[in-house]
Amino acid sequence: MPELPEVEVVRRGLERWVAHRTVADAEVLHPRAVRRHLAGADDFTHRLEGHRVGTPSRRGKYLWLPLEDSGQAVLAHLGMSGQLLVQPHEAPDEKHLRVRVRFADEADTELRFVDQRTFGGLSLHDTTPDGLPDVIGHIARDPLDPLFDDEAFHRALRRRRTTIKRALLDQSLISGVGNIYADEALWRSRLHYDRPTATFTRPRSLELLGHVRDVMNAALAVGGTSFDSLYVNVNGESGYFDRSLDAYGREGLPCKRCGTPMRRRPWMNRSSYFCPTCQRAPRVPS
Ligand SMILES: [Zn+2]
Repeated sequence: MPELPEVEVVRRGLERWVAHRTVADAEVLHPRAVRRHLAGADDFTHRLEGHRVGTPSRRGKYLWLPLEDSGQAVLAHLGMSGQLLVQPHEAPDEKHLRVRVRFADEADTELRFVDQRTFGGLSLHDTTPDGLPDVIGHIARDPLDPLFDDEAFHRALRRRRTTIKRALLDQSLISGVGNIYADEALWRSRLHYDRPTATFTRPRSLELLGHVRDVMNAALAVGGTSFDSLYVNVNGESGYFDRSLDAYGREGLPCKRCGTPMRRRPWMNRSSYFCPTCQRAPRVPS
């Protein structure tokens, strides 16, 4: 699954190539791609036509295109393999092209949703007063959002009977932090993933948030280099950040800080990577 930095790279590409263009028509080539739009493919395309696309927006890993003067937005579910591509009209159709959107202007490009495994899709939703698609109205702000409230996050950590990695992946507390970036930020903070949050001091919470932001911004800085080209792309296997990972995927390799072999532990149907020396496990309460 793509994480926040990858989705933000796509959003920036869409902002450059698709924002403020008016939809001429849309074409659904595979009904599964709009299955979340319960009124069906014809209704989906009909509702897009004639509307101008506002500024593409993101919260956490959720990405949407507001449709001006409709009170609605197109939410993009990228799933495992979904891609949003901006292509010249004459470019041959991709093998797994699912939805095409043409625009009523002179630019010779169109928006394409391509998805090999069809877990992803596009759907239309009413927007909340904040401009969010209503189905994601409960998702917390992400740490790169200027309105994210660090103090409120710290207070929530103190209040909850939870452990830190669970908290980082809890979309009602903080959004957009996936498994990879959680492990990276915890390693930088020297925190074990199972540490209870109720005892966190304010400096500890704020330091952790700082590391979460640093890791995401580093990924953005690398991934952000490609959005200048006429190609908006995400596929979850981004790879451009792999070389700079300090924890995730490094089982058995020496910790970059102390040299101790890194460990991997099963964790909630996923894995947690950590240094047993730098990130001491909390003592089990008796
Ligand atoms: Zn270490």
